Amino acid sequence: MRDDLTQALYHDFPVLYKCMSWGFQNGDGWYEIIRRLSISISNIVASASLEPSEFTVSEVKEKFGLLRVYISNTNNAIQDAIYQSVQESSRTCEKCGGPGVQSARGGWIRASCEPCEAERLRIRQEQARRYDRRDSGTVEIE
Ligand SMILES: [Zn+2]
Repeated sequence: MRDDLTQALYHDFPVLYKCMSWGFQNGDGWYEIIRRLSISISNIVASASLEPSEFTVSEVKEKFGLLRVYISNTNNAIQDAIYQSVQESSRTCEKCGGPGVQSARGGWIRASCEPCEAERLRIRQEQARRYDRRDSGTVEIE
């Protein structure tokens, strides 16, 4: 995820994200989902008078087209909030945040909208063509 979005989450939820080692390993399109989840978890912890430092997220990433969130401690309400965010990620384009679907085209499961998926496949084909040209020894002119 873009650095300014990452820093905004670190800034607004310093305790929740104090143990993050690798940043948010997902596309910018899921930023709003993660922000809403962060607010939900913070509210749950506060309203139940739980110790905030016991609830820290160590990893946020995309896996098989879904958002994954690893948290040090949990309860039913937090589990529900995470589950809802995962459901939401499955129908939200990871790249642009627009309405998306799970797509497995190109052998990779992604939550993507139609235009972002088309663009991704076009870039992949372009890369494959360049690779072929390199392989066959022809000179590449950009
Ligand atoms: Zn998109």
